[in-house]
Order: sequence, then structure tokens, then C-alpha cells
Amino acid sequence: MTTDTPISILGIPYDANSSFLRGAAAAPDAIRQALHSPSTNMMTENLIDLTDHPRLRNRGNVQFQNSRPWLTSITQSVADLLEGGSRIVSLGGDHSVTYPLIKAFAKFHHGLTIIHLDAHSDIYHEFEGNRYSHACPFARIMEEGLAKRLIQIGIRTMNPHQKEQIERFGVEVFDMQSWQTYRGLRIRHPIYLSVDLDVLDPAFAPGVSHHEPGGLSTRELLDIIQHLPGPFVGADIVELNPRRDINGVTAMVAAKILKEVIAKMLD
Ligand code: MN
Ligand code: MN
Repeated sequence: MTTDTPISILGIPYDANSSFLRGAAAAPDAIRQALHSPSTNMMTENLIDLTDHPRLRNRGNVQFQNSRPWLTSITQSVADLLEGGSRIVSLGGDHSVTYPLIKAFAKFHHGLTIIHLDAHSDIYHEFEGNRYSHACPFARIMEEGLAKRLIQIGIRTMNPHQKEQIERFGVEVFDMQSWQTYRGLRIRHPIYLSVDLDVLDPAFAPGVSHHEPGGLSTRELLDIIQHLPGPFVGADIVELNPRRDINGVTAMVAAKILKEVIAKMLD
């Protein structure tokens, strides 16, 4: 990869696998709107101006058609961009989109390390009869061997079934009681970052479907992103639910995270 590798921003307006509330399909447009809000600017914290940045490509939203399974629509759109040599940050959507995303990434990047930031492990074998629920993507990813390593940070809803799954797949979990100890890890490339906004405390990010108290602050999340080794080959920001948001504050948090993720892709 050369330093002029393009970075694609791809929206995935899909929330049909949400177990509790719909609404995340409206997130990509809400995040873009916040990103371009005149209330702020397009600077990253390391002083890169993203306004009309020559390496950024806005790829719009994945188009879903009734004639094609949702999984195929996402995997194919992402594979087309990877074929062109792009790094990709996608805007979900509920967390079920990470499985078809990683299906595409695994074809182009062998030995992926996934850093997964979430209140939930999302590793149920199935949830309410749905194997593709947003509670299950990491079970599909690990059973198909699509990633070499899965590191989860911020978890605070563990239960016996998910604990069993984690042991079965060798997942490294840094729950909220010990999240800072992940800093001792040696993390190798290629790295993919998956950010579920409910990793944040609901006080910082109320616009998500599952309010789980006791989470990270926005600053702590930014600090994790800024201190991971870059560049990431891919990233997703999922589970913003604009219907639950208050004055667009969570959309603005998502836009801020997007800018800092892009900064890590520009390395
Ligand atoms: Mn999740
Ligand atoms: Mn979650």
C-alpha cells in the first residue's frame, strides 16, 4: 500500500437484523449531515483538514435490491472497493453488517486482527431464531475463520452462553472493569476496527437502541482509536439510531469518531 491509498466512506442503511428497535438504517445520512454541519469544521485532532481531501472518496450508500440477498449486496459493494485498492470506513446500520463486511475484507487481507468496541460481545450462536442478528456477527466471523484475532473492549453484558462462545473462539475480552489493560497487547497488522456506539456511556451517546450504563466517555474512545497502531485497512461505525438521539448529539459523536478513524487511515 502506498501513501496515496484512497479512503472510501460507504453508508450501509440497513437495520433489519436489529433485535429491539429499528432506526439505524437512517444513520449514514445523519452522520454525514453532522460531519458537514457548519457548527464545526473538518479538522482532525492531528491537524489534517478533511475538506475536499484528495484521498477521501464519498461512495454514497449501499443499494439494496429485493432480487439480491442483503449479505451479498454488502459483501459485493465492499469487495468492489477493496479490489480498487481502497481502505474503507463504513457507516452502519446495525451491527449485523460487520459479518458481510468482514467476508469481503478477509478475501483481500489475510490474518486480520479485529478490534471490536462494544457494550456487547455480539457473539450469540443465534438470537431469537436469527443467526444473522446484530447479536451474532462475531460468531459467524469466527466460525468461518475470517479473522485471526478478535479483541473486544468495553463489554459489560456478558452471560454464560457468550462466555462459552468466547472461550470456543479464543476471543480476547477487555470488559469495562479492566478495559485499560488492553494497552499491554502487541497488535499486528492488518487491523480492522469495529465501533458500536453503545460502547460509550449513554450519557455521551443516547442515540443508540441499547442503553447500557457504565461505558466509556467520548474522550476515552477517541484515546483508544488514536493510540492503536495505524493504518487500519477498514473500519465500521454502527448502531447510531437517529430516532433515539437528542438534538443530534450522538450523530455528532459519530462524526467526530469518523474524523479520527479517517486520520488513522491516512497514515
Ligand atoms: Mn454491537
Ligand atoms: Mn452494542
